[in-house]
Amino acid sequence: MRIFERLDELYAIGGGQGANRRSGSAGEQRAHDLVSGWLEEAGFEVERDSAANLIGRLRGTRPDLPELWAGSHLDSVPEGGRLDGPLGVLGGLEAVERIGPGERTLAVVAFRGEEVGCIGSRARVAEIGELPGAFVELHIEQGPRLEHAGVPLGVVTAIVGYSRQTVTITGRVGHAGTTPMDNRDDALCEAAERVLAIRNAARAIPEAVATVGVLTVAPGGVNVIPGSVSFTVDVRAPDRGRLDRLLAAIGLETGVGVEPTVMDATVVDAVKAAIASLDVTPLELPSGAGHDAGILAAAGVPSAMLFVRSLNGGVSHSPAEHSSDEDILLAVDALERTLRDLGSV
Ligand SMILES: [Zn+2]
Repeated sequence: MRIFERLDELYAIGGGQGANRRSGSAGEQRAHDLVSGWLEEAGFEVERDSAANLIGRLRGTRPDLPELWAGSHLDSVPEGGRLDGPLGVLGGLEAVERIGPGERTLAVVAFRGEEVGCIGSRARVAEIGELPGAFVELHIEQGPRLEHAGVPLGVVTAIVGYSRQTVTITGRVGHAGTTPMDNRDDALCEAAERVLAIRNAARAIPEAVATVGVLTVAPGGVNVIPGSVSFTVDVRAPDRGRLDRLLAAIGLETGVGVEPTVMDATVVDAVKAAIASLDVTPLELPSGAGHDAGILAAAGVPSAMLFVRSLNGGVSHSPAEHSSDEDILLAVDALERTLRDLGSV
Protein backbone atom coordinates (compact mmCIF):
# COMPACT_ATOMS: atom_id res chain seq x y z
CA MET A 1 0.00 0.00 0.00
CA ARG A 2 1.03 3.53 -0.75
CA ILE A 3 1.50 4.77 2.83
CA PHE A 4 3.85 1.88 3.64
CA GLU A 5 5.84 2.34 0.42
CA ARG A 6 6.21 6.03 1.22
CA LEU A 7 7.22 5.35 4.84
CA ASP A 8 9.88 3.00 3.48
CA GLU A 9 11.06 5.58 0.96
CA LEU A 10 11.53 8.21 3.68
CA TYR A 11 13.18 5.62 5.96
CA ALA A 12 15.76 4.76 3.26
CA ILE A 13 17.00 8.37 2.98
CA GLY A 14 20.57 8.75 4.17
CA GLY A 15 21.27 5.01 4.15
CA GLY A 16 22.82 3.13 7.06
CA GLN A 17 20.97 1.88 10.10
CA GLY A 18 17.53 3.37 10.81
CA ALA A 19 16.22 6.81 9.88
CA ASN A 20 18.90 9.42 9.17
CA ARG A 21 17.24 12.75 8.52
CA ARG A 22 18.71 15.04 11.15
CA SER A 23 17.36 18.54 11.42
CA GLY A 24 19.00 20.78 8.84
CA SER A 25 20.60 17.90 6.97
CA ALA A 26 20.33 17.00 3.29
CA GLY A 27 18.23 14.05 4.48
CA GLU A 28 15.58 16.26 6.04
CA GLN A 29 15.53 18.39 2.90
CA ARG A 30 15.17 15.30 0.70
CA ALA A 31 12.19 14.17 2.81
CA HIS A 32 10.56 17.60 2.46
CA ASP A 33 11.12 17.53 -1.31
CA LEU A 34 9.59 14.05 -1.62
CA VAL A 35 6.53 14.91 0.46
CA SER A 36 6.10 18.21 -1.35
CA GLY A 37 6.02 16.27 -4.64
CA TRP A 38 3.42 13.86 -3.25
CA LEU A 39 1.28 16.78 -2.07
CA GLU A 40 1.44 18.46 -5.48
CA GLU A 41 0.65 15.19 -7.21
CA ALA A 42 -2.49 14.93 -5.05
CA GLY A 43 -3.59 18.43 -6.00
CA PHE A 44 -2.57 20.26 -2.82
CA GLU A 45 -1.35 23.86 -2.94
CA VAL A 46 2.14 23.85 -1.42
CA GLU A 47 3.53 26.59 0.80
CA ARG A 48 7.03 26.71 2.26
CA ASP A 49 7.09 29.30 5.01
CA SER A 50 10.13 31.33 6.03
CA ALA A 51 11.12 28.63 8.56
CA ALA A 52 10.98 26.09 5.67
CA ASN A 53 7.97 24.29 7.15
CA LEU A 54 5.91 22.58 4.47
CA ILE A 55 2.15 23.20 4.34
CA GLY A 56 0.01 21.51 1.69
CA ARG A 57 -3.51 22.91 1.43
CA LEU A 58 -6.62 21.46 -0.08
CA ARG A 59 -8.51 24.70 -0.53
CA GLY A 60 -12.11 24.87 0.60
CA THR A 61 -14.83 26.97 -0.91
CA ARG A 62 -15.20 29.03 2.28
CA PRO A 63 -12.04 31.03 3.03
CA ASP A 64 -13.86 32.60 5.98
CA LEU A 65 -13.63 29.28 7.90
CA PRO A 66 -10.49 28.65 9.95
CA GLU A 67 -8.19 26.02 8.45
CA LEU A 68 -7.86 22.53 9.92
CA TRP A 69 -4.34 21.07 9.96
CA ALA A 70 -2.98 17.56 10.39
CA GLY A 71 0.71 16.75 10.41
CA SER A 72 3.94 16.19 12.29
CA HIS A 73 7.64 16.35 11.35
CA LEU A 74 10.06 14.72 8.90
CA ASP A 75 13.39 15.11 10.68
CA SER A 76 14.72 12.24 12.80
CA VAL A 77 17.33 11.53 15.41
CA PRO A 78 20.42 9.70 14.09
CA GLU A 79 19.55 6.04 13.51
CA GLY A 80 15.94 6.74 14.44
CA GLY A 81 12.74 4.82 13.84
CA ARG A 82 10.58 4.52 10.74
CA LEU A 83 7.39 6.09 12.11
CA ASP A 84 8.40 8.94 14.45
CA GLY A 85 7.26 11.99 12.48
CA PRO A 86 6.55 10.67 8.96
CA LEU A 87 3.50 8.72 10.16
CA GLY A 88 1.76 11.96 11.14
CA VAL A 89 2.57 13.65 7.84
CA LEU A 90 1.73 10.71 5.56
CA GLY A 91 -1.28 9.70 7.68
CA GLY A 92 -2.52 13.29 7.35
CA LEU A 93 -2.05 13.17 3.59
CA GLU A 94 -3.97 9.89 3.29
CA ALA A 95 -6.80 11.16 5.50
CA VAL A 96 -7.17 14.55 3.82
CA GLU A 97 -7.03 13.02 0.34
CA ARG A 98 -9.83 10.62 1.28
CA ILE A 99 -11.97 13.49 2.57
CA GLY A 100 -11.32 15.59 -0.53
CA PRO A 101 -12.14 19.26 -1.12
CA GLY A 102 -15.06 20.71 0.79
CA GLU A 103 -16.05 23.97 2.39
CA ARG A 104 -13.19 24.22 4.90
CA THR A 105 -9.53 24.34 3.86
CA LEU A 106 -7.69 21.25 5.10
CA ALA A 107 -3.92 21.17 5.27
CA VAL A 108 -1.11 18.68 5.81
CA VAL A 109 1.92 20.15 7.55
CA ALA A 110 5.50 18.98 8.05
CA PHE A 111 7.34 21.02 10.65
CA ARG A 112 11.12 21.39 10.61
CA GLY A 113 13.51 20.30 13.32
CA GLU A 114 11.15 18.72 15.84
CA GLU A 115 13.91 16.58 17.32
CA VAL A 116 16.04 19.63 18.12
CA GLY A 117 13.48 21.55 20.16
CA CYS A 118 10.56 21.89 17.72
CA ILE A 119 12.22 24.78 15.91
CA GLY A 120 9.81 24.77 12.96
CA SER A 121 6.57 24.83 14.95
CA ARG A 122 8.05 27.35 17.39
CA ALA A 123 8.94 29.64 14.49
CA ARG A 124 5.49 29.23 12.98
CA VAL A 125 3.67 30.24 16.17
CA ALA A 126 6.15 33.05 16.85
CA GLU A 127 5.26 35.31 13.99
CA ILE A 128 5.75 33.95 10.56
CA GLY A 129 2.35 32.93 9.33
CA GLU A 130 -1.28 32.29 10.00
CA LEU A 131 -2.28 29.48 12.34
CA PRO A 132 -5.10 26.99 11.92
CA GLY A 133 -8.35 26.79 13.83
CA ALA A 134 -7.34 23.33 15.04
CA PHE A 135 -4.42 20.87 14.73
CA VAL A 136 -4.33 17.08 15.03
CA GLU A 137 -1.04 15.17 15.19
CA LEU A 138 -0.95 11.42 14.61
CA HIS A 139 2.19 9.94 16.19
CA ILE A 140 3.61 6.64 17.38
CA GLU A 141 3.28 6.41 21.17
CA GLN A 142 7.02 5.82 21.81
CA GLY A 143 6.10 4.09 25.06
CA PRO A 144 4.58 0.80 26.25
CA ARG A 145 1.20 1.87 27.64
CA LEU A 146 -1.05 1.06 24.69
CA GLU A 147 0.73 -2.26 24.20
CA HIS A 148 0.29 -3.12 27.88
CA ALA A 149 -3.39 -2.15 27.76
CA GLY A 150 -3.93 -4.17 24.58
CA VAL A 151 -5.40 -1.11 22.86
CA PRO A 152 -4.28 0.02 19.37
CA LEU A 153 -5.13 3.74 19.62
CA GLY A 154 -5.00 6.41 22.29
CA VAL A 155 -5.64 10.10 22.71
CA VAL A 156 -3.17 12.45 24.35
CA THR A 157 -4.68 14.63 27.05
CA ALA A 158 -1.56 16.61 27.94
CA ILE A 159 2.09 17.00 27.10
CA VAL A 160 3.93 16.66 30.39
CA GLY A 161 5.76 19.57 31.94
CA TYR A 162 9.16 19.08 33.48
CA SER A 163 11.75 20.50 35.79
CA ARG A 164 15.43 19.61 35.83
CA GLN A 165 17.38 20.46 38.95
CA THR A 166 20.68 19.54 40.55
CA VAL A 167 21.05 18.38 44.14
CA THR A 168 24.35 18.63 46.02
CA ILE A 169 25.01 16.65 49.19
CA THR A 170 27.96 17.49 51.37
CA GLY A 171 29.59 14.97 53.68
CA ARG A 172 33.07 14.65 55.08
CA VAL A 173 36.10 13.29 53.25
CA GLY A 174 37.99 10.62 55.15
CA HIS A 175 40.45 7.74 54.84
CA ALA A 176 38.68 4.57 53.66
CA GLY A 177 40.86 2.41 55.89
CA THR A 178 41.22 4.34 59.12
CA THR A 179 37.77 5.94 59.58
CA PRO A 180 35.44 3.62 61.57
CA MET A 181 32.01 2.97 60.08
CA ASP A 182 30.26 4.71 62.96
CA ASN A 183 32.30 7.85 62.48
CA ARG A 184 31.59 8.67 58.86
CA ASP A 185 29.61 11.27 56.99
CA ASP A 186 29.57 9.59 53.58
CA ALA A 187 27.92 11.84 50.97
CA LEU A 188 27.37 8.98 48.52
CA CYS A 189 25.47 6.84 51.05
CA GLU A 190 23.23 9.82 51.76
CA ALA A 191 22.78 10.38 47.99
CA ALA A 192 21.87 6.71 47.47
CA GLU A 193 19.05 7.05 50.00
CA ARG A 194 17.87 10.25 48.34
CA VAL A 195 17.81 8.61 44.89
CA LEU A 196 15.60 5.77 46.15
CA ALA A 197 13.34 8.24 47.98
CA ILE A 198 12.91 10.14 44.70
CA ARG A 199 11.85 6.95 42.95
CA ASN A 200 9.33 6.16 45.68
CA ALA A 201 7.91 9.69 45.69
CA ALA A 202 7.33 9.53 41.93
CA ARG A 203 5.67 6.12 42.21
CA ALA A 204 3.13 7.61 44.61
CA ILE A 205 1.86 10.24 42.12
CA PRO A 206 -0.11 8.96 39.11
CA GLU A 207 1.45 9.71 35.69
CA ALA A 208 4.45 11.43 37.30
CA VAL A 209 8.03 10.30 36.72
CA ALA A 210 11.40 11.24 38.17
CA THR A 211 14.86 10.23 37.01
CA VAL A 212 18.34 10.68 38.41
CA GLY A 213 20.53 10.45 35.32
CA VAL A 214 23.89 11.98 36.22
CA LEU A 215 25.74 11.54 39.48
CA THR A 216 29.12 13.09 40.27
CA VAL A 217 31.13 11.85 43.25
CA ALA A 218 34.00 13.89 44.70
CA PRO A 219 36.84 13.61 45.28
CA GLY A 220 36.36 10.26 43.52
CA GLY A 221 39.14 8.16 44.98
CA VAL A 222 38.86 4.41 45.40
CA ASN A 223 40.15 4.71 48.98
CA VAL A 224 38.49 8.00 49.91
CA ILE A 225 35.11 8.46 51.65
CA PRO A 226 33.05 10.67 49.32
CA GLY A 227 32.94 14.25 50.58
CA SER A 228 30.38 15.57 48.18
CA VAL A 229 27.94 14.25 45.58
CA SER A 230 25.85 16.13 43.10
CA PHE A 231 23.13 14.59 40.95
CA THR A 232 20.56 15.70 38.41
CA VAL A 233 16.84 15.10 38.84
CA ASP A 234 14.44 15.19 35.88
CA VAL A 235 10.83 15.41 37.09
CA ARG A 236 7.81 15.26 34.76
CA ALA A 237 4.03 15.32 35.21
CA PRO A 238 0.96 16.12 33.12
CA ASP A 239 -0.13 19.11 35.20
CA ARG A 240 1.46 21.76 37.41
CA GLY A 241 -0.25 20.43 40.55
CA ARG A 242 1.32 17.01 40.30
CA LEU A 243 4.65 18.41 39.12
CA ASP A 244 4.86 20.68 42.16
CA ARG A 245 3.65 17.97 44.52
CA LEU A 246 6.45 15.71 43.36
CA LEU A 247 9.07 18.48 43.44
CA ALA A 248 8.03 19.33 47.01
CA ALA A 249 8.04 15.69 48.08
CA ILE A 250 11.66 15.32 47.04
CA GLY A 251 12.73 18.67 48.44
CA LEU A 252 13.21 20.51 45.16
CA GLU A 253 12.14 24.01 44.14
CA THR A 254 8.50 24.21 43.03
CA GLY A 255 6.91 26.49 40.42
CA VAL A 256 9.84 26.21 38.02
CA GLY A 257 10.54 24.39 34.76
CA VAL A 258 8.55 23.99 31.56
CA GLU A 259 4.79 24.16 32.00
CA PRO A 260 2.64 21.13 31.09
CA THR A 261 0.39 21.69 28.08
CA VAL A 262 -3.17 20.47 28.37
CA MET A 263 -4.75 19.46 25.05
CA ASP A 264 -7.98 21.06 23.86
CA ALA A 265 -11.13 19.30 25.14
CA THR A 266 -13.06 19.68 21.89
CA VAL A 267 -10.28 18.23 19.76
CA VAL A 268 -9.58 15.49 22.32
CA ASP A 269 -13.28 14.57 22.27
CA ALA A 270 -13.28 14.45 18.46
CA VAL A 271 -10.31 12.05 18.51
CA LYS A 272 -11.99 9.91 21.19
CA ALA A 273 -15.25 9.74 19.27
CA ALA A 274 -13.40 8.81 16.07
CA ILE A 275 -11.54 5.99 17.86
CA ALA A 276 -14.75 4.76 19.52
CA SER A 277 -16.53 4.74 16.13
CA LEU A 278 -13.97 2.11 15.04
CA ASP A 279 -15.03 -0.13 17.94
CA VAL A 280 -11.89 0.64 19.91
CA THR A 281 -12.08 1.95 23.48
CA PRO A 282 -9.69 4.90 23.42
CA LEU A 283 -7.03 5.04 26.11
CA GLU A 284 -6.38 8.55 27.42
CA LEU A 285 -2.75 9.18 28.24
CA PRO A 286 -0.28 12.02 28.69
CA SER A 287 2.71 12.29 26.39
CA GLY A 288 6.02 12.08 28.21
CA ALA A 289 7.82 13.54 25.20
CA GLY A 290 7.44 16.97 23.62
CA HIS A 291 5.73 17.31 20.25
CA ASP A 292 4.79 19.99 17.71
CA ALA A 293 1.17 19.67 18.90
CA GLY A 294 2.33 20.88 22.32
CA ILE A 295 3.89 23.98 20.77
CA LEU A 296 0.72 24.81 18.82
CA ALA A 297 -1.47 24.11 21.85
CA ALA A 298 0.65 26.37 24.06
CA ALA A 299 0.23 29.10 21.42
CA GLY A 300 -3.54 28.80 21.70
CA VAL A 301 -4.32 26.55 18.72
CA PRO A 302 -6.90 23.93 19.81
CA SER A 303 -4.85 20.74 19.41
CA ALA A 304 -4.76 17.06 20.26
CA MET A 305 -2.74 13.98 19.42
CA LEU A 306 -3.75 10.54 18.25
CA PHE A 307 -1.31 7.86 19.40
CA VAL A 308 -0.84 4.53 17.66
CA ARG A 309 0.41 1.58 19.68
CA SER A 310 4.19 1.03 19.77
CA LEU A 311 5.26 -2.60 19.79
CA ASN A 312 8.58 -4.01 21.02
CA GLY A 313 7.96 -2.61 24.50
CA GLY A 314 7.54 0.94 23.24
CA VAL A 315 11.13 1.42 22.09
CA SER A 316 11.60 4.52 19.95
CA HIS A 317 14.41 6.70 18.56
CA SER A 318 15.72 3.35 17.37
CA PRO A 319 15.39 1.13 14.28
CA ALA A 320 13.47 -1.26 16.58
CA GLU A 321 10.58 1.24 16.76
CA HIS A 322 7.54 -0.53 15.36
CA SER A 323 3.76 -0.49 14.93
CA SER A 324 1.78 -3.08 13.03
CA ASP A 325 0.45 -2.26 9.56
CA GLU A 326 -3.03 -3.06 10.85
CA ASP A 327 -2.76 -0.52 13.67
CA ILE A 328 -1.37 2.11 11.29
CA LEU A 329 -4.34 1.70 8.93
CA LEU A 330 -6.72 1.91 11.89
CA ALA A 331 -4.98 5.11 12.99
CA VAL A 332 -5.40 6.66 9.54
CA ASP A 333 -9.11 5.77 9.67
CA ALA A 334 -9.39 7.43 13.08
CA LEU A 335 -7.55 10.51 11.84
CA GLU A 336 -9.85 10.74 8.83
CA ARG A 337 -12.94 10.54 11.05
CA THR A 338 -11.50 13.12 13.45
CA LEU A 339 -10.86 15.58 10.62
CA ARG A 340 -14.28 14.99 9.11
CA ASP A 341 -15.86 15.74 12.50
CA LEU A 342 -13.77 18.84 13.23
CA GLY A 343 -14.02 20.09 9.65
CA SER A 344 -17.77 19.77 9.33
CA VAL A 345 -19.51 23.13 9.21
ZN1 LIG B 1 8.19 12.76 16.72
